[in-house]
Amino acid sequence: IKELELVSVTKRYGATVAVDAINHRFQPGGYACLLGPSGCGKSSTLRMIAGHEIVSEGSILLGGADISDLPPAKRGTAMMFQNYALFPHLSVADNVAFSLKMRGDDKADRLKKAGEMLELVDLSALSDRLPDQLSGGQQQRVALARALITRPQVLLLDEPLSALDPFLRIRMRGELRKLQRELGISFVHVTHGQDEALALADEIVVMNNAIIEQAGTARDVFNAP
Ligand code: ADP
Ligand code: ADP
Repeated sequence: IKELELVSVTKRYGATVAVDAINHRFQPGGYACLLGPSGCGKSSTLRMIAGHEIVSEGSILLGGADISDLPPAKRGTAMMFQNYALFPHLSVADNVAFSLKMRGDDKADRLKKAGEMLELVDLSALSDRLPDQLSGGQQQRVALARALITRPQVLLLDEPLSALDPFLRIRMRGELRKLQRELGISFVHVTHGQDEALALADEIVVMNNAIIEQAGTARDVFNAP
């Protein structure tokens, strides 16, 4: 599994420095939480890793190769969004297979892979439904399957649980954690919730005012003097 590394990564929006020359090596195959208050630069960092936002300076390496200039689909990363962003007119299976269609895979192959992914997130029975016929937690699992179908080295999650009710949020934590373990790939999960980071992370990266203030295990970070 490839190591994700940020090398002096900076993001500016006009005069605003959203991310200020941060450096970090994520533990390969680990569950990392990017934790910090609103506006500290977490989403910008995640979007730069995903390739949805260009870096102003610095580079992003995956397995030692610079991916900073590659398009999102070619980086070996995939992103799952907060608001699920499912296509309302496509079935669950077609939503999951969408990126494969864009890539030009043939139909039989797409259906097979989508079926495997739906099994992984325990949604096989609902593959013909439309997104609005699913609960919030089910939609979330579709979004996960859709991101994972490209077999990324790194899954990026931006506040993935914040739209869920508290009960479901706790349950989905367990599911995310289990899925990460099963797949053995690296997860980078953005959250402003300390309890969420504590429950999920092998590694917590604390951001504040555009820099990384601390990074380490939950113990390192929360027991620090
Ligand atoms: P967080 O995810 O921690 O809430 P963001 O990365 O969204 O932080 O934002 C960091 C800073 O960059 C904030 O000051 C925010 O207002 C600013 N910012 C984020 N996106 C944009 C954008 N597209 N244009 C201008 N400023 C932005
Ligand atoms: P977050 O949940 O990370 O805080 P926001 O809700 O702040 O994200 O931002 C959502 C969208 O608005 C993002 O695409 C971001 O780039 C954009 N955005 C955030 N802050 C600003 C800003 N100050 N100016 C312009 N766009 C912004």
